[in-house]
Amino acid sequence: MSFENLKLHPSILQAIADSGYTVPTPIQAEAIPAVLAGHDIMASAQTGTGKTAAFMLPAIHRLSTPSAVKSKGPRVLILTPTRELATQVNDAARKYGKHLRLNTVSILGGMPYPLQNKLLSGYVDILVATPGRLIDHIDRGRIDFSRLEMLILDEADRMLDMGFIEDVEKIANATPASRQTLLFSATLDGNIGKLATRLLKDPKRIQVAAQQDRHENIEQRLHYVDDMAHKSRLLQHMLTDIDLTQAIVFTATKRDADMLAEDLFAQGHSAAALHGDMNQGARNRTLTKLRRGGLRVLVATDVAARGIDVAGISHVINFDLPKFAEDYVHRIGRTGRAGATGIAVSFASHKDMQILQRIERFTGQAIAAHTIAGFEPKRVPRPSAPRSGQDRKFSGKPGGNRSASGQPRREGGFARSGEKRPNSGGFAHHSGRRHG
Ligand code: AMP
Repeated sequence: MSFENLKLHPSILQAIADSGYTVPTPIQAEAIPAVLAGHDIMASAQTGTGKTAAFMLPAIHRLSTPSAVKSKGPRVLILTPTRELATQVNDAARKYGKHLRLNTVSILGGMPYPLQNKLLSGYVDILVATPGRLIDHIDRGRIDFSRLEMLILDEADRMLDMGFIEDVEKIANATPASRQTLLFSATLDGNIGKLATRLLKDPKRIQVAAQQDRHENIEQRLHYVDDMAHKSRLLQHMLTDIDLTQAIVFTATKRDADMLAEDLFAQGHSAAALHGDMNQGARNRTLTKLRRGGLRVLVATDVAARGIDVAGISHVINFDLPKFAEDYVHRIGRTGRAGATGIAVSFASHKDMQILQRIERFTGQAIAAHTIAGFEPKRVPRPSAPRSGQDRKFSGKPGGNRSASGQPRREGGFARSGEKRPNSGGFAHHSGRRHG
């Protein structure tokens, strides 16, 4: 399958070629023809699979034909849970639409209203928005949805988790019933399924990979830790690994992110924090620095780091485990972008056994326990016997499971010269064409 087979507008094919993409990713190969045929779709796809282009390319294709309705309002509306993701979606719209004359506007919380009012009063082809701020503008009667043709919900599960469900429905109800609706989400079950029943018409379900097949390019490792001091020492040691190009370190709270970033900075690491208490300007500056390679370690909270797509992220380190299993999947998806390989390390103490189990159940993968010589835990909180059938199911995979004895895999070589560790080639798979 090539992009040419997908019958996209020549200007879009040109932009795809400019981006260096040669073949559609599986989600693109499935979703693009369905969207072009006019179907509503609900697709389960993680970030890193090329899902943005999967909806953006057919959306832009639609915009290559003029609207039959005479108005200036948006023809495509994309809702995202966070400002960061909205910014990336906006960048994608500009990238793939650069050979067509499109007006793309983003309406995000934390930005001044007067500028947004001005943008909304002109012609808008693609509007990318976070739900809260968009509702404000709808309530003030500043948006004309009369020519809206397509509504796209990106990371719908996350919008639900963040309490945006009512806003999303209200926005959908403000758009014409004739619209085409596309829903992208990590999972399609439960509340997402219910939302889809309300907002989508006879949708095609697209599932690119079974849950357990995901993230095969990311080696997941577990390190048991005794206490905070042990965690800190391990982290410092890991940051000396020369294979670590850039890392995102996740903490449980904004305060912890600040404190840890300060500590790391004081220890001489190029580190900074990213969290929701920072103003948008500071967040943007930090992300730009990360993207340009001027920052090696980003210490972040879940929401702030959602959607970050930076090629150099070789490692994700869960300094604290997330509260929700879904967040684990989103976190580790910050590495191993677009076919690259990555390493996701999780620290876990005896207090974390329940969430660890939930994560493993959610991903369907047991996370292999590793130790580093000199940094072994005093005690291993989990019994060495396999906990469930799933342990065995995944044994034998490269970089996969615990040793046959069930004991943590020992890994003296991590960051030690002259010794090899599994999968240390890290970014050998980078094709150099994936930057977006
Ligand atoms: P996403 O899943 O939308 O966050 O995309 C992940 C990354 O894949 C982005 O950096 C895109 O630029 C890149 N990408 C999207 N489609 C392709 C493709 N067909 N070939 C190579 N890279 C792609």
